[in-house]
Amino acid sequence: MTSYQELGLTPIINASGAVTRLGGAPMPTEVLEAFCDGATSWVPLEQLQAAAGRRIAELTGTESGLVTAGSAAALTLGTAAILCGYNLRRIEQLPHCDDFPCEFIIAREQRSGYDHAVRAAGARFVEVGFNEIVSNAGVRRTEAWEYEAAFTDQTAGVFYGYGRDTEPPLAEVIQRAHKHNLPVLVDAAGELPPKRNLKEIATLGADLVAFSGGKAIRGPQSTGILCGRSDLVSSAAIQMLDMDDHLQLWDPPPELVDKDKLDGLPRHGIGRPLKVSKEEILALMTALELFASGGYDRDWDEQHARLKSIATRLADRAVTCEIDGTAEAERSPMLSITIDETAVGRTAFEVCQSLRNGSPPVYVSHGRLAQGTLVVNPLCISDEQALELARRVGEELDG
Ligand SMILES: *Cc1c(COP(=O)(O)O)cnc(C)c1O
Repeated sequence: MTSYQELGLTPIINASGAVTRLGGAPMPTEVLEAFCDGATSWVPLEQLQAAAGRRIAELTGTESGLVTAGSAAALTLGTAAILCGYNLRRIEQLPHCDDFPCEFIIAREQRSGYDHAVRAAGARFVEVGFNEIVSNAGVRRTEAWEYEAAFTDQTAGVFYGYGRDTEPPLAEVIQRAHKHNLPVLVDAAGELPPKRNLKEIATLGADLVAFSGGKAIRGPQSTGILCGRSDLVSSAAIQMLDMDDHLQLWDPPPELVDKDKLDGLPRHGIGRPLKVSKEEILALMTALELFASGGYDRDWDEQHARLKSIATRLADRAVTCEIDGTAEAERSPMLSITIDETAVGRTAFEVCQSLRNGSPPVYVSHGRLAQGTLVVNPLCISDEQALELARRVGEELDG
């Protein structure tokens, strides 16, 4: 068996949580067992996707679901579905949309690096609203009427990046879009937990919702979920699945693909590079069941204790330690270590860098370095690693 060490790599202490850059979330034993089990037998992928999709639909309160190669892949597939439906010519043409509507309306303040996944299918963004608060030039955020004012005959749909405090409210955007029969694609990749978001976002009327499988769900980090309207999920499925079959023989479950609506068998679509394996699908479904049934809720106390052990060990240093969060919030507690940069003689940025370069390498969350704060996310560290982390931070503070 090849190990990281054999490849010349030193495993790190990941105190940043389920970030993709460092390898995603820890998979529970049941999830790993499902992966190994799935590898020992073979099933037609469209049947497996249909079965997984039925369960995803139940858990999300939607018509249909699909396991994708991450949430970003779900966005590319969802966009492709909105652009093409069952139109075989369009499916073949993507990402070129020269003679059909391909514009997605997006709030300027919701642009992010992840929206590349929407553009990858061929869509073009039309931005609405401004970033006036950030640019210190006004007090208002994007408003729902601005979406409607931007709709033209070139509009294909609306893209919305969901968050706890995104504006305008999703329900208002959906109402404006549906008035013009335009679908709304929602990126909710990181919006689990809370568990209720599995259903709540779709309940607002979103046509398609994308979730990550490798974050809080703790499935393989290369998995995700696309769920929503069955005609759109169906189009996404045929643009992702391997299509090397004969039309007469191809027999997808009707709830995944309504074969009667297809004039022929499309060839591999734009989503073919985004394939998901049978093992990954089984592992994700196992993780999803655990997540949805509250299987991870009891981890909070352990995580809190782990952070406390770090804070206790740093008590006599020139830092202020604070543990945030409650079990009810369903999110991991977080430890902030705010450095007295003058007393220590080093900035949080420098300490963060030395921690990465040390032995073992320690990667803390780096979102608040400018405020002098290192953040420790306990999701991916063991009790021993917590002590090792405290020792390393202590060494860095001592210079
Ligand atoms: C993580 C994330 C994604 C990408 O999800 P993957 O499952 O890694 O593909 C997209 N959008 C947002 C907002 C995210 O946080």
